[in-house]
Amino acid sequence: MERVDIKSFDMEQLSEYVVSLGLKSFNAKQIYSWLHQKNAVSFDEMSNISKQARELLGENCFITNLEIAQKQVSKDGTIKYLYRLPDGNCIESVLMKYEHGNSICVSSQVGCRMGCKFCASTQGGKVRDLQTSEILSQIYATEADTGERISNIVLMGIGEPLDNFDNVIHFIKIISSKEGKNISQRSISLSTCGIVPKIYELAQLKLGITLSISLHATTNEARKRTMPVTNAYPLEQLMKACRDYTKTTGRRISFEYAMIKGENDTQEDAVRLSKLLSGFINHVNLIPVNPVDGSPFTQSDAKIIRDFQHKLTQLNVNATIRRRLGQDISAACGQLRNEHR
Ligand code: SAH
Repeated sequence: MERVDIKSFDMEQLSEYVVSLGLKSFNAKQIYSWLHQKNAVSFDEMSNISKQARELLGENCFITNLEIAQKQVSKDGTIKYLYRLPDGNCIESVLMKYEHGNSICVSSQVGCRMGCKFCASTQGGKVRDLQTSEILSQIYATEADTGERISNIVLMGIGEPLDNFDNVIHFIKIISSKEGKNISQRSISLSTCGIVPKIYELAQLKLGITLSISLHATTNEARKRTMPVTNAYPLEQLMKACRDYTKTTGRRISFEYAMIKGENDTQEDAVRLSKLLSGFINHVNLIPVNPVDGSPFTQSDAKIIRDFQHKLTQLNVNATIRRRLGQDISAACGQLRNEHR
C-alpha cells in the first residue's frame, strides 16, 4: 500500500483521515499543530501522541521534508536556499528581511513551461508541479533553519502558480488556517504571467491575497517577443480579466514591469502603460531586469528607468523602482537551480 502525504491535508481532510485510521479526531488537531505550527519533521517528535499511534501513522503516511542542498547569504541578510525535494529535484526559496518582518519567496513548480525569454526558471521547461506539502515545507524548513518567524509570502519563485492551481490554492488555505501558521491572506501575494481563464477562476474564490501581474510590455507585439503566453492571451484579454478580478474581489492588483534595455523602456511605453492601467487603483513595480545566462536581455540604464518612473507619475500612475535585495548572490530565481542542474 502506498503511504499518503499527510502534510498536504487541510484540517478537515486530516480529521477524516485520522479517524479512518482508528485514531481520535482530537489527534488530528495535535498532528496538524505539530506539522503546521511546530515545523515537525518526524512522527517521533509528536510527544503528546501515543507511541502506538505514532507507529500507525508511520506505517500509513509520510511527512514531506526538504533538505538544504545549498544556501547563500547576502550582505543585506537575504538568504537564498536551494532545496532538495524527496525525489531529488531542486527548487529555490528566498528569505528577505524587512523592517515589517520576514518575507519569503516560494516556488510552485519544478521548472516552468511559460517560456518567458528573460527568465532563468523556464530554461529546461517544466519538470513537474509541486505538491501542497512541498510548497508549505519551503516555509517550515526556512523557519527551522533561521529560527525566525515568517510573516509574508510571495508566490514568485520558480514556476507559474496558476499552472499548478489546485495545489497552490490548497497551500494558501493551509498556510492561512488558524490551526496552522495563521498567516493572513493579506500578507500573501501571488504573481502570474497572465493565464486568463485561471484569473477568472481565482476571482471566484474571493481570497484576501494580492494578485500581481507580470506585465513587462505595453503592446502585444513586444510582449510576444518576451512572453509567449501573450500568443494565447493577448493584453486586451488580460486587462479585462484584471478588471473583473478587482470588481469581483474588491482587491487591488499590483503590476510588475521588468525594465529591459531597448525592449520596453521608452517614454511611449510609459504612456501606453498608463493607458493600460487606467481605471485601476494601481501600483507598478519597475524592476531592472536581472541578467540571466543564455538570455540576450540587459537592464535599462538607471536614468532611463528614472525618466520612465517620472513619466508614469506625471500620468498619475504610482510607480516604484524595486529595491533589489540579494544582489551579490545573483538571485534571479532559477539561477541557482540552473547551476545545479
Ligand atoms: N510565473 C509567475 C511567478 C514567477 S516569476 C510570473 O510570471 O509572475 C516572478 C517575477 O519575476 C515575475 O514578475 C517575472 O516576470 C520576474 N522575472 C523573471 N525573470 C526575471 C529577470 N531575469 N529579471 C527580473 N524579473 C524577472
